[in-house]
Amino acid sequence: MNAHNPSGWRPEMGEGGNLDAVATTSGDRGLMLEEALIFELGAPGKCGVELDEPACDPVPGLARFLRKAPPALPGLTEPETVRHYTRLSRQNYAIDLGPFPLGSCTMKHNPRLNEKVARLPGFADLHPLAPQQTVRGALEVINQLAEWLITLTGMHGVAMTPKAGAHGELCGLLCIKAAIEARGEARSVILVPESAHGTNPATAAFAGFTVEAIPATAAGRVDLAALAARLGPDVAGVMITNPNTCGLFEREMKTISDAVHAAGGYVYCDGANFNAIVGRVRPGDLGIDAMHINLHKTFSTPHGGGGPGSGPVVLSEALCPFGPLPFTARTADGVVHLVEEEDAEAFGHAQAFGRMAAFHGQMGMFTRALAYILSHGADGLRQVAEDAVLNANYVLRSLEDVLSAPFAASGPCMHEALFSDDGLPEGFSTLDLAKGLIDEGFHPMTVYFPLVVHGAMLIEPTETESKAGLDRFIGSLRSLAERARASDPSLKTAPHLAPRRRLDETLAARKPVLVWKEAAAGG
Ligand SMILES: *Cc1c(COP(=O)(O)O)cnc(C)c1O
Repeated sequence: MNAHNPSGWRPEMGEGGNLDAVATTSGDRGLMLEEALIFELGAPGKCGVELDEPACDPVPGLARFLRKAPPALPGLTEPETVRHYTRLSRQNYAIDLGPFPLGSCTMKHNPRLNEKVARLPGFADLHPLAPQQTVRGALEVINQLAEWLITLTGMHGVAMTPKAGAHGELCGLLCIKAAIEARGEARSVILVPESAHGTNPATAAFAGFTVEAIPATAAGRVDLAALAARLGPDVAGVMITNPNTCGLFEREMKTISDAVHAAGGYVYCDGANFNAIVGRVRPGDLGIDAMHINLHKTFSTPHGGGGPGSGPVVLSEALCPFGPLPFTARTADGVVHLVEEEDAEAFGHAQAFGRMAAFHGQMGMFTRALAYILSHGADGLRQVAEDAVLNANYVLRSLEDVLSAPFAASGPCMHEALFSDDGLPEGFSTLDLAKGLIDEGFHPMTVYFPLVVHGAMLIEPTETESKAGLDRFIGSLRSLAERARASDPSLKTAPHLAPRRRLDETLAARKPVLVWKEAAAGG
């Protein structure tokens, strides 16, 4: 039960629970502030700063480049501008306001220490073209982080440059491609389980491979027999997420790797869920050849709103020689070296397939990730994984009596609890529960992914939520599930308390209005 709203719904909301009828003159409702588009607010000629007229005529010959008419800028004073963005920011939901239970995304608290470290002038003010001898500290950060990643994953080397998970996938597949070409073979197929994140098949296709799906078993794991049956001389490799997107650990990973290797292929692991096993499992021990690590998921750092990310790729001994430059690898002396073009030959890296990025990667993310790793230490990182898994299992077991949990019988989940809308009455679905959560003050969970489960709800609480916080979330979701089971019609029109009602998402996607109409704004 939610302590803040024990009945789950407030009867005073009236017929259908619809607050639309409550109109105010300003459009604001209490402290929930309405806000127009900036172009509707502004007026031409208004400005936050006063600029002098240019003192001299433009350079002769350049006059033809001058605007004929003033630009269509909104025109706001400074306080109007500040209020506009502050009002908009209050309509935002953020990890600093409450839990962000999105499965697969790993939205966890970003310790402020990370931000402090990333903003140290010696890091924040680095120029990518600064001579290397003047930025030894930054290179040392990259090297230390690389060493941690190599050690934590039990792999041989790491390409630090990929800019996000999907970019890392591309890097890993290009390594596999280079390795196969070096063997003089032509293998064109990448096998991807049905439950995979959409980036996996997309990346494989982008890298020029043909993608084939491998089915999952009823227990939510890769169908080993189907995989083994498909292996052959045309298969370049497999892309497997572990823990997988059903929130389960692929227990047969070593068997899968051995079978793929025996058939001459390579094993790519989508490591986006590494936060569930960091400090507990070394992917290198499971026979994995390449794996990206989403620094922005496993090692904190905020990525809401689309960035920034960083997706270093760890490689096995077999794939290391093909890793892109710059590349970081442990050499025979046990020391981790950053290898660049000029010393590639000397470090046995002459077969590098090329580069993934112009410079060394996302420096701001490296500093944040290393700060996170060093402040947790090896034992702290292991506890991160254990607590993330504990929290997800708490959510799973607390709700399995009101929501269908398709793999609950497969044993404990990893860091994500997966539910489906099977068993909800006719007309009620995952979308209704997600929209209801907005009224309850929570960001919805991931919905309709993975595709292998009907009306999937994938919930990742992460280790940073307290038990009290989890109880509040569970109480809200439980009350919504109970309302759905009682066929409460008001749930069908949720959210009622958000700045906007339920939107027609199909219309928004099919007919987006992307153009500001000057006439309508009176400009
Ligand atoms: C997030 C995620 C990706 C993609 O990572 P980006 O950093 O967003 O490119 C790939 N696979 C899985 C399972 C993910 O959760």
